[in-house]
Amino acid sequence: MVPQISEVDSNRRTHPYGVKASLRHASVRKCTMLENIGKTLEKDLLTKEDVLTLLSAGEETEPAIYRKAAETKARFVGKKVYFRGIIEYSNCCTKNCMYCGIRAGNRNHTRYEMTDEEVLRAARYAWENGFASIVIQSGERQDEEFISKIERLIRHIQQMVRNELHVTLSLGEQTLETYRRWLEAGAHRYLLRIEVSNPELYRKLHPRDGNHAYQSRLDALKALRKARYQVGTGVMIGLPFQTISDLADDLVFFRDMDVDMVGMGPYLEHKDTPLYRYRKELLSPRERFLLSLRMVAVLRIMMKDINIAATTAMQTLDPMGREKALRVGANVIMPNLTPTKYRRDYLLYEDKPCLDEAAEACKMCLEARIAMAGDTVAYGEWGDSRHFENRQS
Ligand code: SAH
Ligand code: SF4
Repeated sequence: MVPQISEVDSNRRTHPYGVKASLRHASVRKCTMLENIGKTLEKDLLTKEDVLTLLSAGEETEPAIYRKAAETKARFVGKKVYFRGIIEYSNCCTKNCMYCGIRAGNRNHTRYEMTDEEVLRAARYAWENGFASIVIQSGERQDEEFISKIERLIRHIQQMVRNELHVTLSLGEQTLETYRRWLEAGAHRYLLRIEVSNPELYRKLHPRDGNHAYQSRLDALKALRKARYQVGTGVMIGLPFQTISDLADDLVFFRDMDVDMVGMGPYLEHKDTPLYRYRKELLSPRERFLLSLRMVAVLRIMMKDINIAATTAMQTLDPMGREKALRVGANVIMPNLTPTKYRRDYLLYEDKPCLDEAAEACKMCLEARIAMAGDTVAYGEWGDSRHFENRQS
């Protein structure tokens, strides 16, 4: 089923980037624009300029872009959705990213670390419910105690589930040796967002303390690839100082890095962060959401066989945000398996949804939403990135 613009958004009256749609602009311009977009969508390889055109064209072009993205998804990865149960292992973090609610400098959170038993229980839930895959995410720590604890946990999980779960890690920047240890213990995939691919913008969003260098992030991504993980990256969309050209560069960056998975979503404010002071300069939540949706669609058109997540941040800005992302190209959803008692302390941003929903309720709610998007949940399938499989063969 091809998504209709009315299903994706029936209320919008403005251009996604704040420019009011003007009825006075004659249909002639509209036709030319639609023709241009049609031609661009037929191209095999999109240039940066093409990507920029697709991201910034007016709302009348949405149906064509979304239709192409939906067709591409159906043809190259199928209308299946893979569940990755996410376990938010700990909010202890040594870093101070300017946008993040659990940054080390925020004293308003109780810091926690899940016990081994709690992690194993969450993993068992995923396994018994056919999720086939989990993600262990946390703040960043590079000390040996943390590294060996994670290593041990991965081994325990794999023993318990007879190696039937695929384990994804999202534990920040580590050395090649650490990445290898975790892979050896039984991890398969790793998510490390570049956050923004523009080094200049990266510098503005991180402290200049020697601990937040763009080059280290990039090197870590390359180390993951070298260690032979399935590699995922991503960005935040609608950040202060970010331009549409930056976002077009982000999409080209994913392609140049030849990544297997992408998770990207809107930037959301958190009052206990330095970036909060720029909140009045942001795109409206609606605009940020639509821009994120368009990023997902254009990425699917560019990278046909990768896995793309419908992120929780999209649901924060629109109650149907994840379903809409599925309709325009996403094929992965990450149900939250963190014990509810910890969820309020893992607020990377404010208004995070599903804070009180237990795993079972979360699963049922998602199943219904996925069916509404015309997809089915691929229970029991690892859902490796086709791109990863294709580049192995
Ligand atoms: N510490 C690890 C993983 C946890 S943070 C890491 O940084 O890689 C996971 C992701 O949350 C980050 O990559 C970032 O893109 C996202 N995030 C943090 N703060 C956010 C905010 N205010 N709005 C939206 N996403 C945010
Ligand atoms: Fe820590 Fe990750 Fe948040 Fe940065 S984004 S402060 S590394 S949890």
